Amino acid sequence: MPLTPVLTTRWGAEHSWRLSTYERLDGYSALRTALSMQPDELVTLVKDSGLRGRGGAGFPTGMKWSFIPQPKPGEEPTGPAAMPKYLVVNADEGEPGTCKDLPLMMADPHSLIEGVIISSYAIRSKVAVIYVRGEAVHAHRRLLNAVGEAYAAGYLGTDILGSGYDLELIVHAGAGAYICGEETALLDSLEGYRGQPRLKPPFPAVAGLYGAPTVINNVETLASVPFVVRGGAEWFKAFGPEKSPGPKIYSLSGRVVRPGQYEAPMGTTMRELLEMAGGVRPGHELKFWTPGGSSTPYFTAEHLDVPLDFDSVAAAGSMLGTTALMVFDETDSIVEATLRFTEFYAHESCGKCTPCREGTYWLVQVLERIARGRGTAQDLDVLVDTCDNILGRSFCALGDGATSCITSSLKYFKDDYVALLPPEEQARLGRSLRLEPVGAAS
Ligand code: SF4
Repeated sequence: MPLTPVLTTRWGAEHSWRLSTYERLDGYSALRTALSMQPDELVTLVKDSGLRGRGGAGFPTGMKWSFIPQPKPGEEPTGPAAMPKYLVVNADEGEPGTCKDLPLMMADPHSLIEGVIISSYAIRSKVAVIYVRGEAVHAHRRLLNAVGEAYAAGYLGTDILGSGYDLELIVHAGAGAYICGEETALLDSLEGYRGQPRLKPPFPAVAGLYGAPTVINNVETLASVPFVVRGGAEWFKAFGPEKSPGPKIYSLSGRVVRPGQYEAPMGTTMRELLEMAGGVRPGHELKFWTPGGSSTPYFTAEHLDVPLDFDSVAAAGSMLGTTALMVFDETDSIVEATLRFTEFYAHESCGKCTPCREGTYWLVQVLERIARGRGTAQDLDVLVDTCDNILGRSFCALGDGATSCITSSLKYFKDDYVALLPPEEQARLGRSLRLEPVGAAS
């Protein structure tokens, strides 16, 4: 297996964010190679590399690019094939616990810009937009500076490096809404509307920004593209498992000795990552953790050896999400943590659909009651029922994600909930409608 770091290799260099540093460390060499290739060859290369989206869903990147309708040789283009194409970068990193795209943009903004140019060329787009999270003023400024450097050096604008290819790159700041990380809400926000998810189909590949074919990719995904072009598909596939390969940035936070970003091949386990981060803080034990942010079902110590790649994490009952590994120890209350996450979802629910808008509000009320020692035996059933009525019935993934921490905490730590109920309510649990007897959590 090739060695990491790859994506973070320049982060420690002096003035790593400057164009001169980037060029000195092989920067923009992949762009020269890419511009000597046909766009379709690039799509095939990225498909062959097995690169999957790093924003959470894990959709194969090359396949996403291939959905963009393109004119057929010798035919007059019609419909979406005749429209302009857009590449939109989802830099609205907002999943709690996630901190990989912002450091990447701060330390190595040109790797993202190079990836944007190559990917735009591959899908035949002449306009690309980076949508940065509103609160990330520092990242916004850094990107603006880096884009200015790239224009001045001829990597952006007209006739890039004498290839005849033109690309305009716009950096746009959002207004700090979590829902705008959902790709169609992001598009609505870019168009000047309130950011709310759109009904799909049509998918953005056919009707995206301004109704035109659009690819939306995450920052880390696009920053991986120059490495795929330079190293080749086989080199990239040698990192980690066959079905979700590549180098990956994991964010570790919470009760670890050295929280931060750790790059490792896909499929690295939490046990290995914890070792890199100095372990759980001395004198304490791991209690639970999130493999991919607060929208992903909790894992426990029994999952320390699950390979952290899309398929293995799914097989173990959670999701890789944004590889935001939040670590909690025995001093942390699962109910308090779950309440805090649920408050976040209730606050960030965009209000478009009833199950999420109403459901997250009620989940907070019930969780708060339990956490403050005023819960009833029925409250545990109400939590389960409410989650049942949100999961799969919401308009977008925010609603589904809001249920993950509740259902998984009840699965692994039901006794912690029960312990917070008044004694008379604990006694009534045996007559509860839905829950198994205390201690029989599966
Ligand atoms: Fe909005 Fe929540 Fe419905 Fe998504 S699930 S559309 S965030 S109300």
